[in-house]
Formats: sequence, C-alpha cells, structure tokens
Amino acid sequence: MTKNKACYIVESGNRLPLFANKWGAKMNLQRPNSNEATRTANRSRSVTPMSGICTRCLDGCTGNCEIFRATFRGREVIYPGPYGNITAGGDKDYPVDYSHFNIQGYALGAEGLPTGVIGNPDTAIFPSVNTETEYGWDRKVKMKLPVFTGALGSTEIARKNWEHLAIGAALSGITLVCGENVCGIDPQLEVDSSGKIASSPDMDRRIEIYRRYHQGHGEILIQMNVEDTRLGVAEYVSKKHGLDTIELKWGQGAKCIGGER
Ligand code: SF4
Repeated sequence: MTKNKACYIVESGNRLPLFANKWGAKMNLQRPNSNEATRTANRSRSVTPMSGICTRCLDGCTGNCEIFRATFRGREVIYPGPYGNITAGGDKDYPVDYSHFNIQGYALGAEGLPTGVIGNPDTAIFPSVNTETEYGWDRKVKMKLPVFTGALGSTEIARKNWEHLAIGAALSGITLVCGENVCGIDPQLEVDSSGKIASSPDMDRRIEIYRRYHQGHGEILIQMNVEDTRLGVAEYVSKKHGLDTIELKWGQGAKCIGGER
C-alpha cells in the first residue's frame, strides 16, 4: 500500500477503502453473535455489524443466534462444539493477508555448498538443503527442522490424536509441545498427601510414545498452567522421565474463547 495507490474493497459495486465502510468508519472484522464454531446463526439476512443482531429482531424468534441461545442454553455457546471432536480457530476476516503479496523471486546463486562446489541447477537442489538447527543455552536441542508443534493438552481431541502426532513429530525430528492440564484431567491421576502428583498414566503414555520413536532430534516439552504448577507437573516429569524443558503459560488468549487466566 502506498499513499498514492489506495487499496479498495468492492461492496455492492462500490469501491471502498480497506478497513472502512461507505461512511469512512472502521468495519467490524468479525461477525458477532453468529458463528459455526458455536453452531449459531442469525434468522435474518440483514445484520447490524457492530452487535450481530438482526436488523429486525423479532419477539417470538425461534433462534438461533448466540444471544438467543445463551438466554437459556448458555453453556452450549461457551465452547466450540461438539466438544472433543473439533478444533476451532478465529475467523476474523482480516482485510490484508499474505495472498495479497506477490514475491518476485530471482535466482542469485547458491550459498552453503561444500567448498569447491559451484552452484548450478545440478548442485543447488532441494535434497541438499540443510534445515537443521538447535536451541538452548547450556543444553542444546538439535532439530531436523525449526518447527515446534502447537500445544496439545487437556482437550479430548488432543488426547485421542496424540499417538500419531507424537510419532510424526519424533520421526520428523521436531519438538513436540504437550499442552497444559494433562495431569489435571487424567482420570487415573493419583496425588500424594501434599496434593502433588504421584502417578499420571496419561502423561506417562504421552511421553513414552514420543520417546519410542525419537531419533535424537527435537524433544518433548511440557506446558504448565497454574493448576499444573500446583500439582507439581514439572517435578513429576523431571523426576520420573528426566525431562528438563517446560513452558510456563500465563494466558489463554489465542483461542476464540478468549482469556481464562
Ligand atoms: S433473536 Fe432471532 S431475530 Fe433476534 S438477533 Fe437473534 S436470530 Fe435475529
């Protein structure tokens, strides 16, 4: 975007500057009060952008917007559903994304080839690219690729999909992040007289699966929230499994359910 070349969106045949409606005001980039994640929808085609309420909100409407459903089945619109079978992302319609950019690439040679090898179409090939990296200060963790997984934690969808994701991460040589509250929701969790974890079979299972296929690159790290800290998750995975990497979690803002603590 430049000052001389304004960007526009087209709405009903009119060209409108990005981020602004026909009155020049900032547009709502979301569609409040109606979302597939909560399985809600407006009755009307015409909706007030700011509130998400139908422009004709009828007495006696049989739904099914968020306001309507929250009045008597509130719990159903707190979390995306069906619980345990989906993962949901925010669908805010940002007016600019990477597809708006064209990258005009040029072949300017090749770097990193062995000494004496000239870069040409036969030597500068994809299989020769080294994507390995490492992180850590005192103890280095080598990775085949600079990739960490998302944190797969206490959700049912993370629990039942753990095996193939953990195996894939281990074989790929990347770092697997075990999300928060895994021990806290483990139905077989045992705690000692001080309320600290004595046994968490589901945490054990997760670590063991990754380790079974681990080939020296990447690691499994454990995320901890407030409950995990109180339960002594760090002490448990360190003592029982010899893990020494944790990720402390302060907020819960990345999901469309907003922040928890
Ligand atoms: S209650 Fe019905 S009419 Fe009113 S905003 Fe919700 S869906 Fe629309």
